[in-house]
Amino acid sequence: MSATMISGKEISAKLRLSVKAQADALRAKGVVPGLAVILAGDDPASAIYVRNKEKACEECGFYSEKYVLPAETSQDELLSLIAKLNADPRIHGILCQLPLPAHISEQAVILAIDPAKDVDAFHPVNVGRIMTGDYDFVPCTPAGVMAMLDECGIDPKGKHCVVVGRSNIVGKPMSMLLLHRHGTVTICHSRTKDLADVCRSADILVAAVGKAGFITADMVKEGAVVIDVGINRTAEGKVVGDVCTAEVAEKASYLTPVPGGVGVMTITMLMQNTLKAAEKQSAGV
Ligand code: NAP
Repeated sequence: MSATMISGKEISAKLRLSVKAQADALRAKGVVPGLAVILAGDDPASAIYVRNKEKACEECGFYSEKYVLPAETSQDELLSLIAKLNADPRIHGILCQLPLPAHISEQAVILAIDPAKDVDAFHPVNVGRIMTGDYDFVPCTPAGVMAMLDECGIDPKGKHCVVVGRSNIVGKPMSMLLLHRHGTVTICHSRTKDLADVCRSADILVAAVGKAGFITADMVKEGAVVIDVGINRTAEGKVVGDVCTAEVAEKASYLTPVPGGVGVMTITMLMQNTLKAAEKQSAGV
């Protein structure tokens, strides 16, 4: 079998046109979706992500503000900025790029963002709502994966979905979304026994490990759908996923590329969440 590559770029281009059309309709009513992105510190990968988010805002016709803060910014300074943005009616979504400098508490920052403007869906209020299935915002990466599955007509219902990774931003919410869509979900992590066996039993395998080439062909069932969330940089500076793409493509039915797969979808889902935040805030709900 030779896998169909699911192009995040193509799906994103289509979805962004739809977001732009909805943003245009909102603008006609006097509301321009606004996103504030905060970058604290000098992590080079974060700087690239923030630039891509700014570009996506332009593409979708959003208002955006970028705050680049030096690494020595204090937690109080960052929290004051967030408080100011919480109160600013032009800003509907606030995103503070992680990781933060070590002296700033991630949890304090997440808690400071108004849940109505929490377009990353990291605030406990939004996390709880994902558990119950009654949510406005879904973390952008798992939301992007679901949009890719939907676009390809892949229904998780009744399928064995194996998620490798249990982080708060990817693995856990990914598992909940698959469960809400009636998948039978197994979550794996670094203490999972017989990981290769578990992976081989997956109809849909999601790799969110952060280790280049971690998923090899012998861990994949013939015809499985394989979603590669990983973004890893090799010693040569090349960006690669968690999946050995060439060999897994010979066994999987569908596979996502890296780059050009889940990463670009993540930013598109951020645009969708910001649009939704603007719609809800302008309607007063
Ligand atoms: P993370 O917080 O480091 O979590 C990694 C997970 O992988 C952990 O749950 C860990 O298990 C598990 N793991 C590590 N080694 C393992 C092993 N040998 N066997 C089984 N499980 C193992 O990472 P993350 O934030 O979820 O990100 C995962 C990857 O996705 C990274 O490459 C990241 O860059 C990428 N990412 C991509 C996007 C995107 O837009 N495409 C967005 C976010 C992240 P334990 O919990 O037991 O330690």
